[in-house]
Amino acid sequence: MKLMEERVRRDGLIENGDVLKVGTFLNQTIDVPFICECAEEFYRLFGNEGVTKILTIEASGIGLACLTAVPFGVPVLFAKKSRSSNMAGGVYTAPVYSFTHGTQHEIMVPDTMLGPGDRVLLIDDFLAKGEALHGLLTLCEKAGASVVGAGIFIEKQYQGGGDEIRAMGIRVESLAKIKSMSVEDGVEFC
Ligand code: 5GP
Repeated sequence: MKLMEERVRRDGLIENGDVLKVGTFLNQTIDVPFICECAEEFYRLFGNEGVTKILTIEASGIGLACLTAVPFGVPVLFAKKSRSSNMAGGVYTAPVYSFTHGTQHEIMVPDTMLGPGDRVLLIDDFLAKGEALHGLLTLCEKAGASVVGAGIFIEKQYQGGGDEIRAMGIRVESLAKIKSMSVEDGVEFC
């Protein structure tokens, strides 16, 4: 999607060589009309897959998943990174290593909220080494839910996670794929 590439070129900031800051339109600040255009693109790609639920991880995925859910007309379920007091019953869990925070944590969803009847579209802001997506895939597997694919706003292709997940037979569609990135040379897209 050329629109996302243009936006990253214009507003993305490269930090420490490996982290792309997109806090002015995708994280922290969410450019709603722009994300709605992205949602339409995901709907064009996955709209005929019979999606029943969109699954993401808190926190940065939630707003993006909610806007993506609008054209699909389906609910959004987000995996939590810690068990809250109102999560009383059983949960499906999966370990995830956070690339941006350098920490390992468990993600979880209540076992009543995801099940064999679901056809799930996974949504996340970034795909780097694939840890977050692997975690979401594990939750779906434990719940017996079908995964129709993953919609990613920005894939850092050079970090390998996307290709690894595609090799597992999962359809991964990214609105922008970064081939390389450095403070000196900026961003190069695939
Ligand atoms: P992965 O689990 O695929 O290694 O990384 C994906 C997760 O890490 C995303 O959920 C995202 O929050 C975060 N992430 C990875 N790379 C970047 C990046 O360059 N910029 C930002 N803002 N987040 C990133």
